[in-house]
Amino acid sequence: ISHTEKKEFRAETRKLLDIVAKSIYTDKEVFVRELISNCSDALEKQRYSEIAGKATSGNTGGLFINITTNEKERTLTIFDSGIGMTRDEVTDNLGTIAKSGSQEFMKNLQGGAQVDGQALDSIIGQFGVGFYSTFIVADSVEVFTKSGLEGGAKGVRWVSDGSGDYEVSTVENLDFERGTKIVLKLKPESREFSRESEVEKIVKKFSLFINYPIKLNGQLVNNLQAIWYREKRDVTEDEYERFFEHLGNTKVPYKFKLHYSTDVPLTIKAVFYVPSTHQEKMGMTQETPNLHLYCRKVLIKEGATELLPSYLRFIKGVVDCEDLPLNISRETYQDSALISKLRNVITRRVLKMLEDEIKRDSDRYDNWFETFNHFLKEGLMMDSENKESLLRLMRYSATFKEKGFISLDEYVKKMKAGQQKIYYVTAQTREGAINNPFMEPFKNSEDAPPVLILTNNIDEVCFNQIGEYKGHKFVNIETSYDEISKDLGVQQPSSTDSANSLPEEDVTTFSLWLKSELGSSVGKVSISKRLKDQPAIIFGQMSSSMRMVMQMMEQQQG
Ligand code: ADP
Ligand code: MG
Repeated sequence: ISHTEKKEFRAETRKLLDIVAKSIYTDKEVFVRELISNCSDALEKQRYSEIAGKATSGNTGGLFINITTNEKERTLTIFDSGIGMTRDEVTDNLGTIAKSGSQEFMKNLQGGAQVDGQALDSIIGQFGVGFYSTFIVADSVEVFTKSGLEGGAKGVRWVSDGSGDYEVSTVENLDFERGTKIVLKLKPESREFSRESEVEKIVKKFSLFINYPIKLNGQLVNNLQAIWYREKRDVTEDEYERFFEHLGNTKVPYKFKLHYSTDVPLTIKAVFYVPSTHQEKMGMTQETPNLHLYCRKVLIKEGATELLPSYLRFIKGVVDCEDLPLNISRETYQDSALISKLRNVITRRVLKMLEDEIKRDSDRYDNWFETFNHFLKEGLMMDSENKESLLRLMRYSATFKEKGFISLDEYVKKMKAGQQKIYYVTAQTREGAINNPFMEPFKNSEDAPPVLILTNNIDEVCFNQIGEYKGHKFVNIETSYDEISKDLGVQQPSSTDSANSLPEEDVTTFSLWLKSELGSSVGKVSISKRLKDQPAIIFGQMSSSMRMVMQMMEQQQG
């Protein structure tokens, strides 16, 4: 009989710390994010404990974070007036790798994360490794802390050089009543983190929206609020504007906005802005995606391209997803299926916002569309899943509307009795379109079907790809001569027509002569009765605008 033993893994702490410190995080600077996140958690716990009557606010000057840099001493100090730690908690939480006191705190609250209607919703910590990222940049990490929960508890000092052991002692005279102060003695090669400007940059990048005031050498760093966490009705227009200015780095006001939050299928809090101008002129530049991914107010990814399809790259804003399955470094996420779900939800919602704007004020939308149409048309080509809603967002010129745009639905409403197809003409200008020789049969009578006037080359490419709208085929009046003659009931020529027509044999002779003169540059020559003002027209598979697109492409390649 074999003797079974149950044993625990032993860990070589020195090595483990090294692994944690060096291999989890790709950028050194993230230790600032980790420390501030811990401060935020400690402050949130204090706030919660006060509401729950388990702690008093004491004489501590409120809830805040103070950072000080000292370039000469090569130190960085971070203090928070949060809940602090008792001696036992220090040993448990800082002395045990991968133990998260914060996660435990949340667990203990199970179901009770609300007091007086105040939710405790922004505890960030969960993995129990963030603190050790300090050893990437520091030779020695010294922690002074005093718990707010145990009245009269003594202060505690914890210190380690990250090489496998640490020291804990009780200290009598701390220069604060409650909270935690962490002093990093930076490695020579990491001295940049004792420079104010560098630290300010990092705090602003990752932690700008932390709930509590963060002061750096006495100056307030975070003067913006995470408005996406607030109720719509509590956010003022001025705050929305300021936030957009911050995101877009611009003074040009935004056009539309959407403040959105949902709990199904994911917990998302987001604010989206549609700008009123963009940088993409003549295809020379591309808008840089400006939609940032946050998890509980902490930046996960700037300009996260995976959140929206590329054609919506003009959207600016913030998406905060609490359920984001972050990997341990918090720099990436693990579940790509979840991200694509998130992307689908967001894409649909953004398109719906544009549709809502049409309902609210269609002229205002049209005006925006004029400047941004190429983005949506690109979407029409790429995003078949959202084709229907994109088609509803399209606007075109049409023969029956002198100025301004129409929607495809308006065209369909204007269709003549018996008309099955949507006719369009391409041109550089409206005038050019009206004077196009192929327009003749569409101009002369009240019964003539309406024609869409497309002045953007991409439109025809889109129509070719989509084929139809609500069962109505798109037909280019330049390339479907015979088809249109039939649709419009224009008769084929007959020899016994009016007196000044040519006799049939002359017609044949003329056609043969023309064909032999033009040779292989035309396929066939035939007589038309449809033309009245024009002597002749040339047509083919490709419309004039398509020929232009092809020529431009050839020139670019050549
Ligand atoms: P996590 O934040 O994921 O829990 P960390 O390694 O960052 O992991 O921190 C470990 C634990 O140490 C925290 O869960 C918390 O209990 C404690 N802790 C860290 N920093 C502070 C602080 N500033 N104030 C109070 N407790 C802290
Ligand atoms: Mg942490």
